[in-house]
Amino acid sequence: MSRHDIFSRHRLILLLSAVLVLGFLATSLISYYVSRQAIRHAIIDQDLPLTSSNIYSEIQKDLVRPVLISSTMAHDTFLRDWVLRGEQDVDEMSRFLKEVKQRHGAFSSFFVSEKSGRYYTGEGILKRVSSFEPRDAWYYRVRGMSENYEINVDPDLANEDALTIFINYRVFDYADNYIGATGIGLTVDAVRRLIREYQQRFHRTIYFVNSRGQAVAFARGEQPADLRQMPGLGAQIDAILQRKRGSFQYEADGDNHILHVNYLPELKWYLFVEQNESVALAGIRQTLYFNLAISLVVTLIVVFLTQLALSRYQRRLEQLASTDELTGLLNRHAFNILIGKLIAEYRREPRPISMLMVDIDHFKPINDRHGHLAGDTVLATVTRVLQAGLRESDLAVRWGGEEFLLVLKGCELAEAARIAENLREAVAARPIRVKDTDIAVTLSIGASQYGGGESPEQAVNRADAALYRAKAGGRNRVEIAET
Ligand code: GH3
Ligand code: MG
Ligand code: MG
Repeated sequence: MSRHDIFSRHRLILLLSAVLVLGFLATSLISYYVSRQAIRHAIIDQDLPLTSSNIYSEIQKDLVRPVLISSTMAHDTFLRDWVLRGEQDVDEMSRFLKEVKQRHGAFSSFFVSEKSGRYYTGEGILKRVSSFEPRDAWYYRVRGMSENYEINVDPDLANEDALTIFINYRVFDYADNYIGATGIGLTVDAVRRLIREYQQRFHRTIYFVNSRGQAVAFARGEQPADLRQMPGLGAQIDAILQRKRGSFQYEADGDNHILHVNYLPELKWYLFVEQNESVALAGIRQTLYFNLAISLVVTLIVVFLTQLALSRYQRRLEQLASTDELTGLLNRHAFNILIGKLIAEYRREPRPISMLMVDIDHFKPINDRHGHLAGDTVLATVTRVLQAGLRESDLAVRWGGEEFLLVLKGCELAEAARIAENLREAVAARPIRVKDTDIAVTLSIGASQYGGGESPEQAVNRADAALYRAKAGGRNRVEIAET
């Protein structure tokens, strides 16, 4: 194989690898980006809005009932009559409030009288409200507001698992004079459960934000987080609160976060539903790596198989180029290469090399009488006999039509002559059978030894001259060239 061929073979492998790698890479990446786009759209257009509206409707459902209960309390004639009568029997009021609380499974029920400032609960008078007490600020706010009621979420009173809300309902007498505030406090477990389920199942972050941009604390002792301090989100928070609802995205810790915001006017809160896109994409990213790994393995296998097939093919070509087709012996081209190596070896470490020039006697008449194919069979058979008499290290060359050159390594001339005699006898001893015909074949052989100071061609020529003498001397014999 020439340099050019080797170069183009490497180029072929390189090209093949490049095509496979680029092809696999392109399909894997395209399908990854398409899936990523689809997932992002699903998050923005469906998942987050749906989560948000589910939570919102759950909250609304949970708010309607307590508002109705509080409204009923505020319009109750007993309550109003009892206040107008001068708030005399505290037990009566306690019984009323206890009854409401128990019947509706409320966390607490209350009435605050405008006239006496007393704060009544199911257990009696809790205290007297005071405008100097920060904890009573809610009452003065309710007294001054224009709506009939407010929904107040009190983080301080919230317990671990439940969102606690108070409905503060204004109470009027029959002449429309303000006489106090009543209502119930109750825990909204369902919303909490729903939020937790969404957080765990879909790795979404769900929280409420007040109008000051603070995440609302649910649990006791939890500090409201200022979203303006949050990386990524902080810069957008004012714009988000102003827009009130919609989809937003921000980068934090190298991840893209998709945010859906909904405003809850009843609570004056914003519902934030967030999805970390990297978490949502973990599945398809794994698929991408898996695809790339498979592609790599397939590429390696294809390249390996191609390499294997090419080197087999190349070996076969080399064999064809160096051996004779009919006999399988070396051709003269291969001999020229090998004899060069042999002589180089000899120069390093001179060990005798002998040559036998072998020619089949009267081969032309064999062809003429039995046909060319029979001649071929004779050639092949003689080849086998010659090879059987040689060592592994010896060279056997098809020199011409029915001429063979045998190169015997590490062999003195006398030994070579003996081997030649054996070969001659072996062929002469047994006629060659071709299609029911026995063909008697004999060999003439000329032997020479490489002299060291000469070229290998000179040794070949002397063997050839000896062969000529064998022919002239009557054939079927071995002649030895002088060294
Ligand atoms: P000598 O004893 O003097 O060697 O006589 P010879 O007939 O063997 O010598 P010659 O060189 O005149 O004839 C060789 C013949 O071998 C001539 C050619 O047709 C035949 N021959 C050469 N190559 C092949 C081959 O591959 N197959 C066959 N069947 N015949 C071949
Ligand atoms: Mg011949
Ligand atoms: Mg000949």
